[in-house]
Amino acid sequence: MKIAIAGAGVGGLAAATLLARAGHGVEVFDQFDTPAPVGSGLMLQETGLAVLGAMGLRRAAEARGAPIHRLFGRSIPSGRTVLDVRFTALREDLCAVGIQRSALFDLLHASALEAGAQFSGRVDVVAVDGVSGHVIEQGGKQHGPFDMVIDAMGANSPLTSGAATMLPFGALWASVDWDKAGPFDAHALEQRYRKARQMTGMMPSGAPHEGAAPTATYFWSLESGAYEDWRAQGLAAWRTEAEMLWPETAAVVAGLDEETLTFARYRHRTWPRPVEGRLVHIGDSWHATSPQLGQGANMALLDAYALCQALAAEPEDLPRALEAYLGQRSLHVQLYQAMSFLFTPVYQSRGSVLPALRDWVASPLSRIPPAPAVLAALVSGSVGRPLRRLDLV
Ligand SMILES: Cc1cc2nc3c(=O)[nH]c(=O)nc-3n(C[C@H](O)[C@H](O)[C@H](O)COP(=O)(O)OP(=O)(O)OC[C@H]3O[C@@H](n4cnc5c(N)ncnc54)[C@H](O)[C@@H]3O)c2cc1C
Repeated sequence: MKIAIAGAGVGGLAAATLLARAGHGVEVFDQFDTPAPVGSGLMLQETGLAVLGAMGLRRAAEARGAPIHRLFGRSIPSGRTVLDVRFTALREDLCAVGIQRSALFDLLHASALEAGAQFSGRVDVVAVDGVSGHVIEQGGKQHGPFDMVIDAMGANSPLTSGAATMLPFGALWASVDWDKAGPFDAHALEQRYRKARQMTGMMPSGAPHEGAAPTATYFWSLESGAYEDWRAQGLAAWRTEAEMLWPETAAVVAGLDEETLTFARYRHRTWPRPVEGRLVHIGDSWHATSPQLGQGANMALLDAYALCQALAAEPEDLPRALEAYLGQRSLHVQLYQAMSFLFTPVYQSRGSVLPALRDWVASPLSRIPPAPAVLAALVSGSVGRPLRRLDLV
């Protein structure tokens, strides 16, 4: 088939690799001049790692990233442990990998090029005709027709996004040198919370490129509406606040400024029509959410893999293949969208009731078996058994 992929992010590049390897003619369009990664470090879970394994990229990703065995969070000022997820509670050898987005991007981009995918940069896609299979860019220029068009344009895809889907909280994030960061657990994502209004975190994120020094990703949650005030307020006031919430981050915070801190806004949306004629949505364009559960990149990889598998099983019948793709992915997507929607306000919202329940009820209960294993399953992305459905275990 002749296939267009709009968006050279995690899902788009994985789909480009798999489809080009399967012998399809693949053209990838992105708004950027040359494809480039945007965004912070992220956590690859067993789900995403299994897909990378099937693509022959898992070892390289693990070598670039940092193994993460535990997610740990304290509420301030009480000091209570309110999050403690250990992957070994589910399986002895289970862990996640913190990785810089640029490292993951390099691996996927190189494999897509090697597989023969073509790249067209500086194409700002504004519409897709799902009947004729044309990709339409800003200014009206049309590309195609294609037998299939994949929307992998992420959370801000012009085909599926609307202002109403914006979540109230986003986050400032920055990459920092691990060696200069301070005394943190090299194998844990750590967080501190003040109620659910403030959350700060550090995640080991490996080396951005071969031979580079190890990094961490620093997060500071912020209401989207408060971003301009934060800028106007000046960094000194913020640094004091950040050090009060987590004194051990003082060295990190002292080294950050408006240039190194990037503000990310989050959306929550499950697009109701993931398949429309020849147009199919994968990744965040289908199911955007806050990164609280850290599943988005992993889900994009699963979508790309499921789509390629469905096309291989039904090479002569596109509608049936796309139906099979939906059959593979819908349950897992619905489960995680629902859980993410429920969990996000527990960690990022203005109210006092949810964080109080979190600290005084949910947290003690989460230590009673089988809760530790259930939490590890939830965070590793395995609820709904997506890997079994795709024959990846
Ligand atoms: C701060 C932060 C932390 C996160 N942490 C995690 C984590 O720990 N674990 C995890 O799994 N996920 C995490 N995520 C979510 C994860 O980044 C996304 O779910 C994932 O990148 C989605 O992949 P995608 O392929 O759908 O889209 P993206 O990777 O966002 O790629 C979209 C691509 O489309 C291109 N594009 C967009 N619009 C257009 C257009 N109009 N025309 C042409 N091209 C276009 C963009 O340039 C980009 O290349 C995090 C997200 C953020 C913001």
